[in-house]
Amino acid sequence: MKIISVTGGKGGTGKTLVATNLAWLLSRKKKTMLVDIDVDNPCTYTFFNVHLTKTRSIVRFKPIIDKEKCTLCGKCTATCPTHALILIPKKNDILYIPSLCEGCALCYYVCPEQAILEGKDEIGYIYEGRKDNIYLIVGELKVGQRASIKVMLETLSHSMERAKEYQYEYVVIDTPPGTSSGIYRALSLSNKIILVTEPTTLGIHDLKRMLRLLKDLKDKEIIMVVNKYGIRGGAYEELSSFIKGCKLDNIVYIPYDAEIPKHYAKGKIIVKKYGDKLTKAFNEILRFAHDC
Ligand code: SF4
Ligand code: SF4
Repeated sequence: MKIISVTGGKGGTGKTLVATNLAWLLSRKKKTMLVDIDVDNPCTYTFFNVHLTKTRSIVRFKPIIDKEKCTLCGKCTATCPTHALILIPKKNDILYIPSLCEGCALCYYVCPEQAILEGKDEIGYIYEGRKDNIYLIVGELKVGQRASIKVMLETLSHSMERAKEYQYEYVVIDTPPGTSSGIYRALSLSNKIILVTEPTTLGIHDLKRMLRLLKDLKDKEIIMVVNKYGIRGGAYEELSSFIKGCKLDNIVYIPYDAEIPKHYAKGKIIVKKYGDKLTKAFNEILRFAHDC
Protein backbone atom coordinates (compact mmCIF):
# COMPACT_ATOMS: atom_id res chain seq x y z
CA MET A 1 0.00 0.00 0.00
CA LYS A 2 1.34 3.41 -0.98
CA ILE A 3 0.26 6.47 0.96
CA ILE A 4 0.50 9.99 -0.47
CA SER A 5 -0.44 13.09 1.52
CA VAL A 6 -1.42 16.30 -0.21
CA THR A 7 -0.75 19.24 2.06
CA GLY A 8 0.73 22.74 2.01
CA GLY A 9 0.06 25.03 4.96
CA LYS A 10 -2.19 27.70 3.49
CA GLY A 11 -5.88 27.26 2.61
CA GLY A 12 -7.07 27.83 -0.95
CA THR A 13 -3.81 26.89 -2.70
CA GLY A 14 -5.32 23.88 -4.48
CA LYS A 15 -4.66 20.92 -2.17
CA THR A 16 -8.09 19.43 -2.80
CA LEU A 17 -7.77 20.09 -6.52
CA VAL A 18 -4.51 18.11 -6.60
CA ALA A 19 -5.76 15.35 -4.25
CA THR A 20 -9.04 14.72 -6.11
CA ASN A 21 -7.49 14.82 -9.58
CA LEU A 22 -4.58 12.61 -8.55
CA ALA A 23 -6.95 10.09 -6.92
CA TRP A 24 -9.08 10.05 -10.06
CA LEU A 25 -6.04 9.53 -12.31
CA LEU A 26 -4.67 6.72 -10.12
CA SER A 27 -8.07 5.06 -9.87
CA ARG A 28 -8.24 4.47 -13.61
CA LYS A 29 -5.65 1.71 -13.17
CA LYS A 30 -5.29 1.07 -9.43
CA LYS A 31 -7.53 0.45 -6.43
CA THR A 32 -7.44 3.89 -4.84
CA MET A 33 -8.70 5.28 -1.56
CA LEU A 34 -9.15 9.01 -1.04
CA VAL A 35 -9.18 10.13 2.59
CA ASP A 36 -10.49 13.58 3.50
CA ILE A 37 -9.23 14.80 6.89
CA ASP A 38 -10.20 18.43 6.29
CA VAL A 39 -12.75 17.71 9.00
CA ASP A 40 -13.99 21.31 9.43
CA ASN A 41 -14.96 21.51 5.79
CA PRO A 42 -14.70 18.18 3.96
CA CYS A 43 -15.64 18.52 0.30
CA THR A 44 -13.72 15.90 -1.72
CA TYR A 45 -16.85 13.75 -2.14
CA THR A 46 -18.59 16.49 -4.13
CA PHE A 47 -16.12 15.89 -7.00
CA PHE A 48 -17.14 12.25 -7.38
CA ASN A 49 -20.88 12.45 -6.93
CA VAL A 50 -20.65 9.76 -4.26
CA HIS A 51 -23.43 8.81 -1.91
CA LEU A 52 -21.75 8.69 1.51
CA THR A 53 -22.90 6.50 4.38
CA LYS A 54 -22.19 7.39 7.99
CA THR A 55 -20.24 4.40 9.28
CA ARG A 56 -19.00 5.64 12.64
CA SER A 57 -19.60 8.24 15.29
CA ILE A 58 -16.51 9.65 16.97
CA VAL A 59 -16.94 10.15 20.70
CA ARG A 60 -14.83 11.35 23.55
CA PHE A 61 -14.97 11.38 27.33
CA LYS A 62 -17.43 13.70 29.05
CA PRO A 63 -17.52 14.00 32.88
CA ILE A 64 -20.82 13.27 34.60
CA ILE A 65 -20.74 14.45 38.20
CA ASP A 66 -22.56 12.44 40.81
CA LYS A 67 -23.66 15.23 43.15
CA GLU A 68 -24.51 12.72 45.90
CA LYS A 69 -20.90 11.55 46.07
CA CYS A 70 -19.14 14.87 45.39
CA THR A 71 -17.62 16.48 48.50
CA LEU A 72 -16.63 19.67 46.61
CA CYS A 73 -12.97 19.01 47.39
CA GLY A 74 -11.96 20.94 44.27
CA LYS A 75 -9.35 18.46 43.01
CA CYS A 76 -11.01 18.11 39.61
CA THR A 77 -11.40 21.86 39.09
CA ALA A 78 -7.77 22.48 40.08
CA THR A 79 -6.57 19.78 37.68
CA CYS A 80 -8.70 20.53 34.64
CA PRO A 81 -6.29 22.06 32.08
CA THR A 82 -8.95 24.01 30.22
CA HIS A 83 -11.02 25.30 33.18
CA ALA A 84 -14.05 23.42 31.97
CA LEU A 85 -14.94 22.64 35.60
CA ILE A 86 -15.51 25.50 38.03
CA LEU A 87 -16.16 25.18 41.74
CA ILE A 88 -18.87 27.50 43.03
CA PRO A 89 -18.57 27.24 46.84
CA LYS A 90 -21.43 29.66 47.56
CA LYS A 91 -23.81 27.44 45.65
CA ASN A 92 -22.21 24.18 46.78
CA ASP A 93 -21.93 23.23 43.18
CA ILE A 94 -19.58 22.46 40.30
CA LEU A 95 -20.21 24.04 36.93
CA TYR A 96 -19.28 22.06 33.81
CA ILE A 97 -18.69 24.06 30.60
CA PRO A 98 -18.85 21.54 27.70
CA SER A 99 -17.43 23.95 25.11
CA LEU A 100 -14.15 24.18 27.08
CA CYS A 101 -13.80 20.44 27.77
CA GLU A 102 -11.19 18.55 25.75
CA GLY A 103 -12.22 15.12 26.98
CA CYS A 104 -8.84 14.34 28.57
CA ALA A 105 -10.52 12.52 31.54
CA LEU A 106 -8.01 13.91 34.08
CA CYS A 107 -10.91 14.93 36.33
CA TYR A 108 -12.15 11.31 36.33
CA TYR A 109 -8.76 10.02 37.47
CA VAL A 110 -8.09 12.61 40.20
CA CYS A 111 -11.50 12.48 41.89
CA PRO A 112 -10.94 10.72 45.25
CA GLU A 113 -14.65 9.99 45.73
CA GLN A 114 -15.44 8.28 42.40
CA ALA A 115 -17.94 11.08 41.96
CA ILE A 116 -17.09 11.54 38.26
CA LEU A 117 -18.63 8.99 35.94
CA GLU A 118 -17.65 8.29 32.32
CA GLY A 119 -20.02 9.95 29.88
CA LYS A 120 -19.62 10.18 26.09
CA ASP A 121 -19.85 13.22 23.87
CA GLU A 122 -20.30 12.83 20.12
CA ILE A 123 -17.76 15.07 18.37
CA GLY A 124 -17.72 13.89 14.77
CA TYR A 125 -18.43 11.28 12.16
CA ILE A 126 -16.75 9.08 9.59
CA TYR A 127 -18.48 8.59 6.25
CA GLU A 128 -17.64 6.14 3.50
CA GLY A 129 -18.65 5.74 -0.11
CA ARG A 130 -17.50 4.20 -3.35
CA LYS A 131 -17.50 5.49 -6.90
CA ASP A 132 -16.08 3.21 -9.58
CA ASN A 133 -12.52 2.40 -8.49
CA ILE A 134 -12.31 5.08 -5.78
CA TYR A 135 -13.19 4.45 -2.15
CA LEU A 136 -13.79 7.61 -0.15
CA ILE A 137 -13.38 8.02 3.59
CA VAL A 138 -14.43 11.38 4.97
CA GLY A 139 -14.01 12.69 8.51
CA GLU A 140 -16.33 15.43 9.68
CA LEU A 141 -16.33 17.47 12.87
CA LYS A 142 -19.78 17.78 14.43
CA VAL A 143 -21.09 21.35 14.14
CA GLY A 144 -20.24 23.36 17.26
CA GLN A 145 -17.42 21.04 18.36
CA ARG A 146 -13.75 22.02 18.55
CA ALA A 147 -11.95 18.68 18.70
CA SER A 148 -10.84 18.59 15.06
CA ILE A 149 -7.49 16.93 15.84
CA LYS A 150 -9.17 13.94 17.48
CA VAL A 151 -11.56 13.58 14.52
CA MET A 152 -8.61 13.76 12.10
CA LEU A 153 -6.66 11.12 14.03
CA GLU A 154 -9.64 8.77 14.27
CA THR A 155 -10.37 9.21 10.55
CA LEU A 156 -6.75 8.38 9.72
CA SER A 157 -6.60 5.25 11.84
CA HIS A 158 -9.98 4.08 10.52
CA SER A 159 -8.75 4.64 6.94
CA MET A 160 -5.56 2.68 7.49
CA GLU A 161 -7.56 -0.28 8.83
CA ARG A 162 -9.96 -0.12 5.89
CA ALA A 163 -7.16 0.23 3.32
CA LYS A 164 -5.44 -2.88 4.69
CA GLU A 165 -8.70 -4.81 4.99
CA TYR A 166 -9.75 -4.05 1.39
CA GLN A 167 -6.19 -4.14 0.03
CA TYR A 168 -6.11 -0.70 -1.53
CA GLU A 169 -2.99 -0.05 -3.57
CA TYR A 170 -2.98 3.73 -3.18
CA VAL A 171 -4.23 5.96 -0.39
CA VAL A 172 -4.35 9.70 -1.14
CA ILE A 173 -4.86 11.88 1.96
CA ASP A 174 -6.23 15.39 1.52
CA THR A 175 -5.17 17.42 4.57
CA PRO A 176 -6.59 20.71 5.84
CA PRO A 177 -4.48 23.88 5.93
CA GLY A 178 -2.11 24.38 8.86
CA THR A 179 0.59 22.45 10.67
CA SER A 180 -1.41 20.70 13.40
CA SER A 181 -0.55 17.38 15.02
CA GLY A 182 -3.30 15.73 12.95
CA ILE A 183 -1.54 16.82 9.75
CA TYR A 184 1.81 15.67 11.15
CA ARG A 185 0.29 12.24 11.76
CA ALA A 186 -0.92 12.04 8.15
CA LEU A 187 2.52 13.03 6.86
CA SER A 188 4.30 10.55 9.11
CA LEU A 189 2.07 7.74 7.77
CA SER A 190 2.87 8.67 4.16
CA ASN A 191 5.53 7.40 1.78
CA LYS A 192 5.32 10.57 -0.27
CA ILE A 193 4.22 14.14 0.34
CA ILE A 194 2.88 16.63 -2.18
CA LEU A 195 3.27 20.22 -0.98
CA VAL A 196 0.88 22.52 -2.79
CA THR A 197 1.46 26.25 -2.84
CA GLU A 198 0.67 29.30 -4.94
CA PRO A 199 2.88 32.16 -6.13
CA THR A 200 1.85 34.61 -3.41
CA THR A 201 3.69 35.97 -0.39
CA LEU A 202 1.20 34.29 1.97
CA GLY A 203 1.48 30.96 0.16
CA ILE A 204 5.28 31.03 0.43
CA HIS A 205 5.13 32.09 4.09
CA ASP A 206 2.89 29.17 5.03
CA LEU A 207 4.96 26.75 2.99
CA LYS A 208 8.02 27.72 5.05
CA ARG A 209 6.12 26.72 8.20
CA MET A 210 5.23 23.42 6.57
CA LEU A 211 8.87 22.75 5.67
CA ARG A 212 9.80 23.26 9.33
CA LEU A 213 7.22 20.62 10.24
CA LEU A 214 8.77 18.26 7.71
CA LYS A 215 12.29 18.56 9.13
CA ASP A 216 11.78 15.53 11.37
CA LEU A 217 10.36 13.39 8.54
CA LYS A 218 13.59 12.87 6.67
CA ASP A 219 12.62 9.56 5.05
CA LYS A 220 9.79 11.11 2.97
CA GLU A 221 9.97 11.96 -0.67
CA ILE A 222 8.56 15.40 -1.36
CA ILE A 223 7.35 17.18 -4.44
CA MET A 224 6.29 20.83 -4.52
CA VAL A 225 3.38 21.82 -6.72
CA VAL A 226 3.05 25.51 -7.55
CA ASN A 227 -0.59 26.01 -8.49
CA LYS A 228 -1.97 29.04 -10.36
CA TYR A 229 1.47 29.65 -11.88
CA GLY A 230 1.30 32.69 -14.13
CA ILE A 231 -1.51 34.44 -12.25
CA ARG A 232 -1.24 38.21 -12.58
CA GLY A 233 0.48 39.94 -9.63
CA GLY A 234 2.15 36.76 -8.38
CA ALA A 235 5.23 36.99 -6.14
CA TYR A 236 7.50 35.32 -8.71
CA GLU A 237 10.82 36.74 -7.56
CA GLU A 238 10.08 35.77 -3.98
CA LEU A 239 9.02 32.31 -5.15
CA SER A 240 12.15 31.75 -7.16
CA SER A 241 14.49 32.84 -4.35
CA PHE A 242 12.52 30.63 -1.94
CA ILE A 243 12.88 27.66 -4.31
CA LYS A 244 16.64 28.26 -4.61
CA GLY A 245 16.98 28.39 -0.84
CA CYS A 246 14.79 25.46 0.14
CA LYS A 247 16.74 22.86 -1.89
CA LEU A 248 13.61 21.18 -3.20
CA ASP A 249 14.42 20.05 -6.72
CA ASN A 250 11.20 18.24 -7.52
CA ILE A 251 8.83 21.03 -8.56
CA VAL A 252 5.72 20.98 -10.76
CA TYR A 253 3.92 24.06 -12.05
CA ILE A 254 0.17 24.01 -12.70
CA PRO A 255 -0.48 26.87 -15.14
CA TYR A 256 -3.09 29.44 -14.19
CA ASP A 257 -6.20 29.48 -16.32
CA ALA A 258 -9.26 31.53 -15.32
CA GLU A 259 -11.54 28.70 -16.51
CA ILE A 260 -10.11 26.19 -14.02
CA PRO A 261 -11.47 27.80 -10.81
CA LYS A 262 -14.92 28.10 -12.46
CA HIS A 263 -14.91 24.42 -13.39
CA TYR A 264 -13.50 23.42 -10.00
CA ALA A 265 -16.16 25.43 -8.15
CA LYS A 266 -18.81 23.34 -9.91
CA GLY A 267 -17.26 20.20 -8.34
CA LYS A 268 -15.70 18.84 -11.54
CA ILE A 269 -12.56 16.79 -12.01
CA ILE A 270 -10.54 19.27 -14.04
CA VAL A 271 -8.18 16.82 -15.75
CA LYS A 272 -11.24 15.37 -17.50
CA LYS A 273 -12.00 18.73 -19.16
CA TYR A 274 -8.63 20.48 -19.22
CA GLY A 275 -6.52 17.39 -19.80
CA ASP A 276 -4.52 19.00 -22.60
CA LYS A 277 -3.56 22.13 -20.67
CA LEU A 278 -2.78 20.21 -17.52
CA THR A 279 -1.31 17.03 -18.97
CA LYS A 280 2.30 17.95 -18.31
CA ALA A 281 1.72 18.99 -14.68
CA PHE A 282 -0.51 16.06 -13.73
CA ASN A 283 1.68 13.55 -15.57
CA GLU A 284 4.58 14.67 -13.39
CA ILE A 285 2.46 14.45 -10.23
CA LEU A 286 1.19 11.03 -11.29
CA ARG A 287 4.70 9.79 -12.01
CA PHE A 288 5.87 10.97 -8.60
CA ALA A 289 2.92 9.26 -6.87
CA HIS A 290 3.12 6.07 -8.86
CA ASP A 291 6.83 5.54 -8.37
CA CYS A 292 6.57 4.69 -4.64
S1 SF4 B 1 -12.25 15.79 30.69
FE1 SF4 B 1 -10.37 17.05 30.92
S2 SF4 B 1 -10.94 18.97 29.98
FE2 SF4 B 1 -12.86 17.91 30.34
S3 SF4 B 1 -13.54 18.60 32.33
FE3 SF4 B 1 -12.32 16.76 32.70
S4 SF4 B 1 -10.25 17.50 33.11
FE4 SF4 B 1 -11.38 19.17 32.17
S1 SF4 C 1 -12.75 15.79 42.58
FE1 SF4 C 1 -14.61 14.62 42.81
S2 SF4 C 1 -15.26 15.04 44.89
FE2 SF4 C 1 -13.75 16.57 44.37
S3 SF4 C 1 -14.94 18.30 43.60
FE3 SF4 C 1 -14.41 17.05 41.84
S4 SF4 C 1 -16.12 15.68 41.57
FE4 SF4 C 1 -16.29 16.51 43.61
